[in-house]
Amino acid sequence: MKTSPMSVQLVDSHAVCKGCMRELPLSEFPTRKDRSGRKRPYCAACTRDSQRARYAAHKRNSPFKLKASRARSRSQYLKVPFDLDAAYLESIWNPVCPVFGIPISIVEKDRSDEFAAELDRFIPSRGYVKGNVTFISRRANRLKNSVTTEELSKLIEWMEKYENKSDVSKTD
Ligand SMILES: [Zn+2]
Repeated sequence: MKTSPMSVQLVDSHAVCKGCMRELPLSEFPTRKDRSGRKRPYCAACTRDSQRARYAAHKRNSPFKLKASRARSRSQYLKVPFDLDAAYLESIWNPVCPVFGIPISIVEKDRSDEFAAELDRFIPSRGYVKGNVTFISRRANRLKNSVTTEELSKLIEWMEKYENKSDVSKTD
């Protein structure tokens, strides 16, 4: 049997993480997946953080791939057809929301980013297929999904009434 020199880490049953520099019990360190069976130099929390950072980088580097894979899972959830791919999505990409004419971003800042681009289906039941999708702002998508055209025209009527009233007192 091969004898390897025992490391300081094993003697102490603690090790210092190369990421956060905290001294932690060995149980906090993931084991390498190779045959060595050695512990990784980064603790579980740091490993998670770096995985998250890699995912974020992936999002930045290939946002269309990510959009395509999200649309695929959404199509499975909604049980609608799917035939999109990253190349097609990139070919239809336009950084302006066709509804509001505002700039949109293919990479979202966070879930509340109103200027993030989202895929809109012209005819929802036809699914995520070529020719049936376009990018619109999350703002437009959220508004679209929350009101009916009837509600919207009533709302516009109401807002116009209000606008006319406030115009009376406006000086500009
Ligand atoms: Zn750490």
